[in-house]
Amino acid sequence: MTTRPDKHDPSTLSFLTQAVHAGNSIDPGSGAIRTPLVLANSYALPEDPSGLDWSGTEVPLYTRNSGANQLALQQKLAVLEHGEDAVVLASGVAALHSVFFTFLNSGDHVVVADVTYEATWRLFTELLPSKYGIEATFVDASDPENIRAALRPDTKLVHVEVVANPTTKVTDIRAVADVAHEAGALVTVDSTFTPPPLFRPLDHGADLVIHSLTKYINGHGDAMGGAVVGSRELIARIKSDAMVDVGGIISPFNAWLITRGSITLPLRLARHLDTAQRVAEFLDGHPRVTYVAYPGLPSHPQHALATRQFEGRGFGAMMAFGVDGDSDTHNRFVSNLRVITSAVSLGHDESLIVHVGTDGPRVRQYPEEFRRWGHLRFSIGLEDPDDLVADLDAALTATFG
Ligand SMILES: *Cc1c(COP(=O)(O)O)cnc(C)c1O
Repeated sequence: MTTRPDKHDPSTLSFLTQAVHAGNSIDPGSGAIRTPLVLANSYALPEDPSGLDWSGTEVPLYTRNSGANQLALQQKLAVLEHGEDAVVLASGVAALHSVFFTFLNSGDHVVVADVTYEATWRLFTELLPSKYGIEATFVDASDPENIRAALRPDTKLVHVEVVANPTTKVTDIRAVADVAHEAGALVTVDSTFTPPPLFRPLDHGADLVIHSLTKYINGHGDAMGGAVVGSRELIARIKSDAMVDVGGIISPFNAWLITRGSITLPLRLARHLDTAQRVAEFLDGHPRVTYVAYPGLPSHPQHALATRQFEGRGFGAMMAFGVDGDSDTHNRFVSNLRVITSAVSLGHDESLIVHVGTDGPRVRQYPEEFRRWGHLRFSIGLEDPDDLVADLDAALTATFG
């Protein structure tokens, strides 16, 4: 068996190096220098298995408890997000559910940002209240005083997004954590739009950070996964309650794909961030574009907060904008695009755009321009920025003449 001498403690290495090495190890069976894809439901038991914890999650036993590819990805994500441990699950939504399922009991109160991912919104407006009597207060989380005002003695958890999907509203994670912790509430942060090294919520007081791995961390649009990262103690509870006994686990193949995709996260993110700023400025200057919501533009309501919070590293690569016309005009504009693809999801190599409707109770909490013009959610990919700008320019010309 081959071992690598002087393996560094990954926490001492830079992010670029961590993205390459963290979680990887030499396979003791084959000597392969990277963790192979291990497709097995079960792992060999010791001679006397009677003392094993059948719900244990650290030793590979059964793939719903742990497996080689889950463990490698968990180790890597804990390093990248500055947590002690991580749990990976089948999707970002499975990860969100695992947090709410583990830490909330019936009758508990939660404070939730008024703009969040669709499934989070539905969980807290409909499913958790009707099934478990959980009561949610929705607040504009961009002002931490709104969170303070909504906290109650029975508030167990405060859930926000760093940059909200889809409006790009920015939340001050340190301020929210300070306010929520004073009241003894757990702070859970969906950081899907702001993967490391752009931002790390755990360094700013969050208790748990949640990612849809489907997006930037995998980055190639070919696998789904979700993760929660935090302290060993909190993650152990999620693994035991929501992974082993609810079972929304990630497949070994998806864990392997996401581990591979994440190697280039720092390189991809640098490109995404540069291109997004350039594209946002182009759109902002176009007479047929009615508004652009992007934290990197001075016109964004939380531009100053984003500049301070992200310490000059960038502003993400997600934006929303509208064009001068009705819903049909927006659809025509999208169908005139030749490089940018109309599809959901985000954080892929390919730029993706979605024309989202203007109806429904959730949309009422969007800024006025979103409701007036409708909005196009736009995920900036890895294409040449000149090609993206040219594609948008040509589609605007084709739509408006
Ligand atoms: C996509 C997304 C999710 C859900 O992730 P899936 O992998 O699609 O289940 C959660 N939060 C945010 C902010 C997202 O963009």
